[in-house]
Amino acid sequence: MSAPTPPPDSISFPGFPDSTPTGAEPAPPRWPWRRWRSAWRRWSLWTVLVVLVVSMLITLVWLAGRYEAVQVQDRLERDAANAVADVRAALNRNLQDLQALSAQSSDPQEWRARAAEVLQVRREILRIEWRDSRVRLQSYAETPYRPMQWEEGLRDDSQSHAQLTCANARRLNGPAYSPSYFQLLNEGLGSEMMEVCLPLSHSGRVDGFIIATYSLQSILVNQVSKNLAHSQEVSFTEPDGTRLALVGAAWRGTRVFTAQQILDLPGNMLVLRLDHWHRAPSVFPNVLTALVTTMSIALGTVLVILVRDNRRRLRAERDLGEALAFRKAMEDSLITGLRARDLKGRISYVNPAFCDMVGFSSEELLGLNFAPYWPPELSEEYHQRQLKRLAGKAPPSREGYESVFMRKDGTRFPVLIFEAPLISAQGRHTGWMSAFLDISEQRRMEELSRASQERLQATARLATVGEMASLLSHELTQPLMTIASYATGSLNMLGQHDSASDNPATLRQQLQDLRTAMQRIAHQAERAGRVIKSVRDFVRRRDQSRELVHASELVDAVLPLVRMQARKLGVRVITQLDNDLPPVLCDPTMIEQVLLNLARNGTQAMDGMETHPRELTLRVRQTTTSAHASWLEFSVIDCGSGIDEAVSDQLFTPFFTTREEGMGLGLSLCRTVIEQHGGTLRHSANLPRGTVFSFTLPAPPQN
Ligand code: ADP
Repeated sequence: MSAPTPPPDSISFPGFPDSTPTGAEPAPPRWPWRRWRSAWRRWSLWTVLVVLVVSMLITLVWLAGRYEAVQVQDRLERDAANAVADVRAALNRNLQDLQALSAQSSDPQEWRARAAEVLQVRREILRIEWRDSRVRLQSYAETPYRPMQWEEGLRDDSQSHAQLTCANARRLNGPAYSPSYFQLLNEGLGSEMMEVCLPLSHSGRVDGFIIATYSLQSILVNQVSKNLAHSQEVSFTEPDGTRLALVGAAWRGTRVFTAQQILDLPGNMLVLRLDHWHRAPSVFPNVLTALVTTMSIALGTVLVILVRDNRRRLRAERDLGEALAFRKAMEDSLITGLRARDLKGRISYVNPAFCDMVGFSSEELLGLNFAPYWPPELSEEYHQRQLKRLAGKAPPSREGYESVFMRKDGTRFPVLIFEAPLISAQGRHTGWMSAFLDISEQRRMEELSRASQERLQATARLATVGEMASLLSHELTQPLMTIASYATGSLNMLGQHDSASDNPATLRQQLQDLRTAMQRIAHQAERAGRVIKSVRDFVRRRDQSRELVHASELVDAVLPLVRMQARKLGVRVITQLDNDLPPVLCDPTMIEQVLLNLARNGTQAMDGMETHPRELTLRVRQTTTSAHASWLEFSVIDCGSGIDEAVSDQLFTPFFTTREEGMGLGLSLCRTVIEQHGGTLRHSANLPRGTVFSFTLPAPPQN
């Protein structure tokens, strides 16, 4: 017996925890009684069927056996009747012969010769006597086949069989038979005998008798046994069953059939009995029984096969049910929306996740060949896309494409769609299967991450600004002091003018000096303004916008700030730009910040080192050119400390820094910015000393 399975209304799956809440009182099992009852009903039906079939088989075999027995009995009865008829016919024939014997001759010698002829032919007659009307022996003849000891005296006794039979014959006026009697034969054996007495009449008067003596055994041998089968035993009996003569095989079977027929002769009544036996009670008495039995066995076999098949079918049904329930449970718990369409574009299947996503029930969606979740403004575009897909012109989108769907309440949301042809089990293309992922949450997270990236970048810029504030003050000191000294000089000149002579040449000279001073002041003020503007531009957060910018413009924009820093540390800044560089597509502010960060890192790497030369190179060159795009490589090359292997692994990890005043955000932000532009940022050693930081930017092909 297999372990009890859970009831159908609480399907459990292998590997899945039971849904019964732990700690809760287990509900009393309702199902065993029901299960037991249905099992009992099923088994009782099978038992009844098996019992019916088995009893039918037994009845069939029994009936076939009985039929066979009746057949044998019938045949035996027929044989017995035939045998009696044969005996009767033979006796009548003999009577005719005897009659003829008396009619043809009256001379005893001649009669004897003729009687001997009859005895030659009729072997069952042992002796024929001719007697006169007073039953006295006239003549007689004996069979040549069996010598016998006749006691003539006894035969003439008035009470002898011959006398009594003839008396009977006279009375009947026709042939009469005697009762059977035992007569010793010559060989010391005996035999049952029977006399027949035929009265010889002449003109209505009995004037003699012919007496013939029969051996019952010989009658059986000569008249009956040759027509009967070997397996039969034939005998004469008295009506009370006493056996008188017997012919037949001595072999006896276990089953004996018996038939009896009365041989009613005038003056004697004998019973002819036939015994027929079978070798053994046979299970298959004849072809019919064998056929019936074979068919019954075949029926039984079919029944067994049916039972097995039924059991297998039940098992398969149960497995299928479990597999279906498992599939449904999987479909219901999927968070990916699934939708199938047939070749005409009609929706043939949607899973619960898809219904939840779009807010329509499956009844509202199934059978539609348009989609109510398409935003009206995009529905024409989507329709074209669907037509293309149905025409088989669109390749299956296994990588997925983005689209916008509309919920039932009208809100739009982005989805990622994967589509593949729906191939049936027979390998036929029956439609299209699509999987949908609601990516609104993903989009929201991306937006959040972008905003925090921007905030981080702003923070990093502010940090850079703070760092630069000291540099600024140093850088602005020079123009401001120059302005101040020119202003002082100018004021002095104006004070001298009051006391100066009115010499026009002197006056002209003074005005010229004053103009020069004012021009220098203006120039220095402009320079100070540029310094401040470059910092302000850098700090101010601008919207991300991509535009085509020449590499030289980017380098020029950061150069004053880079130089300012480099000058402080005694570093020479070199620029190397190839000629005829194509413009790159980028957000200039971001790329300027990257350049500034890398340049600052390079400059700082040379701080405090007695390296020679102390040079920072900004290099831009074109790397690859193809029909579709070319790339520019920006490199910042320093002759500083270089980067250890241990540091190299964590270089782009946010907040990793080896400098006391560093924030460790510069390089990670630089890499993010470059990757957002589709380029890559990497570094390598600058031999013999220092580091090269390079990044690439795309330069779109120019028509
Ligand atoms: P911060 O400059 O605030 O430290 P970064 O992310 O810009 O942050 O740099 C992280 C670290 O990388 C620096 O602290 C420094 O150790 C190392 N580094 C960056 N650029 C170079 C360079 N050109 N040469 C040597 N080390 C460098």
